[in-house]
Amino acid sequence: MFPARKLALFRRQLLGWFHEFQRDLPWRRTRDPYRIWLSEIMLQQTRVAAVIPYYERFLARFPDVRALAEAPQEEVLRLWSGLGYYSRARNLQKAAQEIVAKHRGKFPRDLDRALALPGIGNYTSAAILSIAYGTKHAVLDGNVARVLARLGAIRGDLRETNRWRNLQENANHLLDPESPGEWNQAMMELGATLCSPRAPQCLLCPVAQFCRARQLGLADRLPEKRKQRATEEVTLAAAVFLDPRGRTFLLSPSSVKTRHHTSNEIAPLVSKMWHFPTVRVRENAPAELQRFLAELLLEASKNRFRLEPLSKARHAVTYRKITLLPFRVTVAALPSASGAKVVVLTDVSSHSSLAVSNLTRKIARAALITRAAAAG
Ligand code: SF4
Repeated sequence: MFPARKLALFRRQLLGWFHEFQRDLPWRRTRDPYRIWLSEIMLQQTRVAAVIPYYERFLARFPDVRALAEAPQEEVLRLWSGLGYYSRARNLQKAAQEIVAKHRGKFPRDLDRALALPGIGNYTSAAILSIAYGTKHAVLDGNVARVLARLGAIRGDLRETNRWRNLQENANHLLDPESPGEWNQAMMELGATLCSPRAPQCLLCPVAQFCRARQLGLADRLPEKRKQRATEEVTLAAAVFLDPRGRTFLLSPSSVKTRHHTSNEIAPLVSKMWHFPTVRVRENAPAELQRFLAELLLEASKNRFRLEPLSKARHAVTYRKITLLPFRVTVAALPSASGAKVVVLTDVSSHSSLAVSNLTRKIARAALITRAAAAG
C-alpha cells in the first residue's frame, strides 16, 4: 500500500494522535486477556456507552475466567440481560469452560487455539492476542475496513470475499510490528471517532495526507452501500397476566424449543430467554392469542380470557421490524403452564430480574405504563 518511508510516517502520525486523543475506556487500562476478551464480545454490534455499565457489573460478579466458567448460565444471561445478541453470552461462558478445561484457565496465545473457542472469530482473536500478548495480528472489523477503504479509495461491497481478503492484506501491511496492540486500537479508534460512517472529520484526521478518498472528494461516499436484506415486518401478540398482588408469569427459555407450533418463528425473537406468552399473529391478534393460550395453558387453567389491549410498542431484531401488541389479562389467580415462573411485573422491567430480552422488558413497561395511567 505504501513504500517504507511513507509507511513509517503514517504509523508515527496515527500512533501520535492515538496517544494524545484516545478515549479513556475501562478495557484500555488492562492487559488481562479475560477483560479484553469480554470487552470485545460486548462491543460486537453494541455502542461503547451502552457496554460500559454492563462490562463493570459483569466483572464485579465474574472477575476471572474461572468464576465465569463455574457460574449458572441463568446468572450469566441475567447480567447480559438488555445487551442483546444473547448467543454472545452463551458462547462466552462455553469458551470460559473450555479455557479452564483445556488451557489451565489461561486464554491461549496461539491463534489456532483461540479460533477454536466458541464465539471467537478472526477479528476477536486478532484483537485479544495483539492487545493482551502483543502478537502481530492485524484486526479487520467494520470500522477498520471503512478506514482502509477510504485510504485506498476502494469501491464496491467491502464484505465481498476477495475484497475483504485484500483489505486484510492492507491491514497486515500497515500493522506496526513494534506495538501491534496499540496499532490495532489506533486504527479502530480512528474508525470509531473521526472516520465515522456518515460525516468523516477529515480536517482533524492525523492521516489525511495519505487518504485517496479525501483527495478525490469521495470521503463521505465510501464505502459504497451494501445491498440490504429486505426488512421483514412481524407482529407479535403477548399476554401479560396480572393477579391482585401485581404478579405475572413468564415462560422458560426451553419452552420455546418444545412448543412445536411456534418454535421456529418466536425463538430468535425472544432470544431464548424468559418471556411472556407470545405468538406471531397475522390477522386477528386477540383471537390468535386466545387460541395460543388455550394450547399453552394446562387443562385446569383453560379459559377464555378478557384481553385488554395495552400500548403498542416497536422493536427491531436484525432485519425484522417487530410490532408488539401486548394484552393485559387480569385474573384472580395466575393460570398454570409448563415451565412457567411467577414473578412480580415491576421486576421484569428492571435490571435486577430474570434473564429477559429487551423485547420482554418493553412489553412489561407497556403494561406498567398503562396500569399507572389507569391508576392515575
Ligand atoms: Fe477518514 Fe477523512 Fe481521515 Fe480519510 S482523511 S481516513 S476519510 S477521516
